[in-house]
Amino acid sequence: MKRALICGISGQDGAYLSRLLLDKGYEVFGTARDAQMALFHNLRLLGIQNRIGFHSMALNDFRSVLQVITRVKPDEIYNLAGQSSVGLSFDQPVETLESNSVGILNLLEAIRFTERPIRLYNAGSGESFGDTDGDAADEDTPFRPRSPYAVSKATAFWEVANYRDAYKLYACTGILFNHESPLRPERFVTQKIVKAACRIASGSDEKLSLGNISISRDWGWAPEYVQAMWMMLQQEAADDFVIATGESRSLEEFVAQVFEVLSLSWRDHVVADPSLFRPSEIMINRGNPSKAARVLGWRVVHKMRDVARLMVEAEMASLAAREG
Ligand code: NDP
Repeated sequence: MKRALICGISGQDGAYLSRLLLDKGYEVFGTARDAQMALFHNLRLLGIQNRIGFHSMALNDFRSVLQVITRVKPDEIYNLAGQSSVGLSFDQPVETLESNSVGILNLLEAIRFTERPIRLYNAGSGESFGDTDGDAADEDTPFRPRSPYAVSKATAFWEVANYRDAYKLYACTGILFNHESPLRPERFVTQKIVKAACRIASGSDEKLSLGNISISRDWGWAPEYVQAMWMMLQQEAADDFVIATGESRSLEEFVAQVFEVLSLSWRDHVVADPSLFRPSEIMINRGNPSKAARVLGWRVVHKMRDVARLMVEAEMASLAAREG
């Protein structure tokens, strides 16, 4: 039985990845900064929290990282922990850089120190590419980060590449574009839109305030993206992969689709709020997943319209369950 350690298990991806690995027969361990206080709401929703061993780990504290790795003795480590919001990174740049780029360095050092053949996955981001003017970014596209978050993810990418090259560690980065699900926190715009639209459909007369809706993103379905993470660690040699749908859709199209699923017109319910614009913004991003398709056999199933519909259906079901 393989053992996996998932750092940042309480988040959206941590929950779906845990379910995938449990289904594959793995023994799954997960970390939170304070595992005693964490509620593991997402793991509860998936009904798997009792099948996981939890540990507290502060990624920016080398002793804590080394201690957990030594106790768990994992075959695979998935690093999903860190400050994950682009918007918040403009307000917490130091926290963002530390959690995303010092954290992975501690993991790489700890693996090197223990001299165990541990395979490491690091959560990179398509945000690192910056604005590609609508061109699909692939593994050879240079990084031009436009937020503290993207800078931290680009830094972490090069740390992983350097340790793979210099110390022959099996370490790779998945450069994932946006992926959504009902487990996305409301701080993220997709979930903010879905929740507000569902409340409006259920009778609320509120208005939904949004920033720049002309931006375009490559939106995928989170449960499919965690499969790619696992596939990356099953290859003969470690490598980096772009994971995306290959299609970019505007936020306006996402909003329109959400309201359309609910038989509403978005223009009646949405107001523009310039205070929600970011200091610097990527207008369009798009990823090219051909290498992942060719080497990993990974293929996207759900694209933006499906993602919006699935999120609305889940939210309406959850509202109905609460009312019932
Ligand atoms: P979440 O924000 O849902 O989860 C991240 C986890 O990291 C949290 O559960 C939290 O765990 C921990 N964490 C949060 N802030 C910090 C911090 N400041 N220091 C240390 N740990 C922290 O993220 P997702 O599951 O959506 O994403 C997983 C990873 O993939 C993240 O690194 C994200 O940046 C990256 N990514 C995500 C994309 C997406 O579209 N979802 C796209 C590209 C990359 P706890 O509070 O329990 O310690």
